[in-house]
Amino acid sequence: MKTQRTRSQEKIFHLLKTLDSSISAQDLYIELRKRKQNIGLATVYRSLDALKLQGVVQVRTLSTGESLYSLVQQDQHHLTCVNCGQSVLIDECPVHDLEDRLEKSHHFKVYYHTLEFFGLCDRCQGMTGPLEG
Ligand SMILES: [Zn+2]
Ligand SMILES: [Zn+2]
Repeated sequence: MKTQRTRSQEKIFHLLKTLDSSISAQDLYIELRKRKQNIGLATVYRSLDALKLQGVVQVRTLSTGESLYSLVQQDQHHLTCVNCGQSVLIDECPVHDLEDRLEKSHHFKVYYHTLEFFGLCDRCQGMTGPLEG
């Protein structure tokens, strides 16, 4: 499927390319304004949605409910602490074979996947223990 991108989509795509971390739609809107690109917030959301459907943008929803957008570069795997909210990126991918199998068995085109483990980080384990009781 070949898709023609709109000008807004192109601008957002290029901005995401220059950022090395994921960003919320709200912050993306502010960044665009800083660069004198006047795109309304509603258009930012619409464009992100379209880019998502094209498989070039991925979304990650935080425990706060905030959605962070980034370009699809590689699969993301995280260890997230439920206490301090700190996320650690994991390099290894335990599910690549599964992805291949799912593509075949479900005839599903997989764009990317995310994998997130929740719990307490090293620091927070030490803090919560003695405080209980
Ligand atoms: Zn923690
Ligand atoms: Zn993976």
